[in-house]
Amino acid sequence: MLLYNSLSRKREEFVPNVPGKVNMYTCGPTVYHYAHIGNLRSYIMEDVLEKYLRFSGYDVKRVMNITDVGHLTSDADEGEDKMLKGAKRERKTVMEIAKFYTDAFFADCEKLNIKTPDVVAPATGCIDSFIEVITSLIEKGYAYEAGGNIYFDTSKLNQYYVFNDFREEDLEVGVREGVEADTNKRNKADFVLWFTKSKFDDQELKWDSPWGIGYPGWHIECSCISMKNLGEYLDIHCGGIDNAFPHHTNEIAQSEAYIGHKWCNYWFHVHHLNTNSGKMSKSSGEFLTVSLLEQKGYDPLVYRMFCLQSHYRKSLVFSYENLDNTVTAYNKLVAKTASLLSEKDSSAIDTESAAALRKRFTDALDNDLNTSLAITALYDLLKAKTNAATKLSLISEFDTVLGLDLIKAAEKQLSQKQEEATPSDDPFIAEIEAMIQKRKEAKKAKDYATADAIRKELADKGVTLIDTAEGTKYKIN
Ligand code: AMP
Ligand code: ZN
Repeated sequence: MLLYNSLSRKREEFVPNVPGKVNMYTCGPTVYHYAHIGNLRSYIMEDVLEKYLRFSGYDVKRVMNITDVGHLTSDADEGEDKMLKGAKRERKTVMEIAKFYTDAFFADCEKLNIKTPDVVAPATGCIDSFIEVITSLIEKGYAYEAGGNIYFDTSKLNQYYVFNDFREEDLEVGVREGVEADTNKRNKADFVLWFTKSKFDDQELKWDSPWGIGYPGWHIECSCISMKNLGEYLDIHCGGIDNAFPHHTNEIAQSEAYIGHKWCNYWFHVHHLNTNSGKMSKSSGEFLTVSLLEQKGYDPLVYRMFCLQSHYRKSLVFSYENLDNTVTAYNKLVAKTASLLSEKDSSAIDTESAAALRKRFTDALDNDLNTSLAITALYDLLKAKTNAATKLSLISEFDTVLGLDLIKAAEKQLSQKQEEATPSDDPFIAEIEAMIQKRKEAKKAKDYATADAIRKELADKGVTLIDTAEGTKYKIN
């Protein structure tokens, strides 16, 4: 499989450290609010990557952190703590909002068919390992104490800016973020590993440490949680593109300083979902969540398909108009699957054509996870000259990666249709349905007089007919 690696800025053949096994780490959510559908784009595409690796035969272990402490509102080590800000907004404790939004995050993931990682670790549960790693970094001369905080000393590294797309002046985080520079830092790019002093509101959650009572910085949690659960050799690290700097850059700096060798081989970054007016945000414009989409009548899996229709390394613009196009495409896929199911074909699988059709699908995903071409392969399969049994078997195979629940949705559609077609046990309902059927036949025969008479007869019985695109419905007054 070819995978784009942000580290080399090239597509590379994916080769894990241990043949057949993949260690994968994902930066989890900061649980101070609902995830917006932009955040969830990253998790959908990472989910497809994990599922495709499993489809390809790898034994995958995936770990995710939950940031429930210490993530500041600014990329720099500045600004208010996001968790504390959320707790103040809702007049709850930090742990209460962490629990509430962690549950909300996984509920959204379930609706989007995003698999829960094998290990999910909240930062507040790993304080001991943060302290252990920070202690070692100080001993090795990579970290220093200043003004009550512990900083990582970036000048001690041979190379710091590994995702080299940054200009040095852009790294003047204090200037870039429009906030005061931290005068404790020896170098502009240094970052906090452990806070005991914050110029902002007092942190609610604090722990004792060799440097005083305080709390961890954001970056250290991912390094520690990853190394604790996946060891010193990581195959793939995932996250949204905004995490490349400073978060991932700092993760690499501290992890490699700690272990003394290269840490992670492949960096998988998902580009942003934007709105027409720019970056997606939780605070300005419409706060786009999965629940909002549901309230507007969209199936969350349509949003999943919307994400799959474009490449993860391209930014994607969200609009309801674009989503409506996906609704049509998704409904078509479901309808075609339903019609295959209704054939009740029990013939043997045509292994030769299945192999050729499967190859189109795997070729697409082997090429830097090209999900939009994988969906084209699904359309090709529906049009292919092979039997329904083969098509259905491939649809369910592909769906283990795509996660669109096509068979389930098609079965639901068929059973709804069947329900509509089955005469009711209630004699009054059965009579209405029989008359609707008669009216349909009369209309088909252009016998409008009979059709109108039936409508009137039903109206006299207190039944109103409503003609819709899906057929005639009725209302009992
Ligand atoms: P956060 O909860 O802020 O820590 O972000 C969770 C994940 O969503 C991170 O991997 C971010 O990089 C990613 N992310 C943030 N904004 C967007 C966006 N607009 N589109 C895609 N991913 C995003
Ligand atoms: Zn992280």
